[in-house]
Amino acid sequence: MAEAKIGIIGGSGLYGIDGMRDVQEANIKTPFGEPSDTIHIGTLEGVRIAFLPRHARGHKINPTNIQARANIWALKSLGVEKIISVSAVGSLKEEIKPGDLVIPDQIIDRTKGRIDTFFTSGIVVHVSMAEPYCAELSKIMLGASHKTSIAVHMGGTYIAMEGPQFSTKAESNLYRSWGASVIGMTALPEAKLTREAEMCYTALCFATDYDCWRENTEAVTAEMILMTLRQNVETSKQILKYAVSNLSGERKCSCNAALRYAIATAPNSINLNTKKQYSLLIDKYVK
Ligand SMILES: [Zn+2]
Repeated sequence: MAEAKIGIIGGSGLYGIDGMRDVQEANIKTPFGEPSDTIHIGTLEGVRIAFLPRHARGHKINPTNIQARANIWALKSLGVEKIISVSAVGSLKEEIKPGDLVIPDQIIDRTKGRIDTFFTSGIVVHVSMAEPYCAELSKIMLGASHKTSIAVHMGGTYIAMEGPQFSTKAESNLYRSWGASVIGMTALPEAKLTREAEMCYTALCFATDYDCWRENTEAVTAEMILMTLRQNVETSKQILKYAVSNLSGERKCSCNAALRYAIATAPNSINLNTKKQYSLLIDKYVK
């Protein structure tokens, strides 16, 4: 089976990575259904990477219906340790202009009833989400983004909303009053699931617009938003290309031990079926 340690999840507009060589296609079935699309595993800058477009090629899956558990499980089963999530977001701050990049460090959950854990039965697991993103991985992405001309904002809170509709003005202003930086529909449950899978997770969030809070002085057209989105996609490809060669090293962060003290169920109370079902995630702790 194909293998890669680095996984890239593409968002709106990013359905492929240019310049990948020796591409293998993986159609993976997981206990949680099928991932959003075929995963392409190929070599970029000498490093094997796995690419998965979260809305499927052609943008067919809305945020609520993304099988995030299948996506993360499939990447984990390929050996992926580090995930870079690329997405389009709305800006909640004046200084984050359309076309800017935000590498967030916090998330507020405003999704509704998405299944956000692998561990739904037979075992209880409480991972820490105090720091939802991997600081080490984010630092590498910051370094790579500095090699492009994009304006980067390091840190900031991502509001994960349900959608598919965008916010009302009242909601948008509420989130601004919370000090949030950007708003999108896909950081959760991805961040929680990657933590449960002991993977490093970081995000490249490209602002396409000012959400709806800002009283515009200039007219913003759909065409302008689309142009920003296209430009962002090109920049994201450049950043990923610059970053991958720095991503192949061993991990020094604690993401790899996220389950160490998180499994609340006594080992002898976890039955054989549960052990089998979750062996990809818990094998090193529960024999
Ligand atoms: Zn990490």
